Amino acid sequence: MKPQHAMPDQRCPQCGKNLNRSSPVDLQLLAPVPGDFTICIGCVAVLQFDQQMKLQVPEQAAIEQLDAQTLRQLIAAQNLILSLKAERQSRGDA
Ligand SMILES: [Zn+2]
Repeated sequence: MKPQHAMPDQRCPQCGKNLNRSSPVDLQLLAPVPGDFTICIGCVAVLQFDQQMKLQVPEQAAIEQLDAQTLRQLIAAQNLILSLKAERQSRGDA
């Protein structure tokens, strides 16, 4: 079980999915902080926490300024979510 952190109840600004938990992509036990990036479990959009821990769609420039390791982690998280969704669909309980 991956560590999870509660966060303020809110909806994904992209797909509207209700989001109230986050899991760190790097398996560290750190809770997200303002400015951190995350991936929507519903639509795999890259999102960013603002100062009030509300999820925002980040500026493209902010994504382009990420270091290679962070980008790799975000892409790995997107791939993980997509493969979990595909697995669930193949079992017929999507
Ligand atoms: Zn979403």
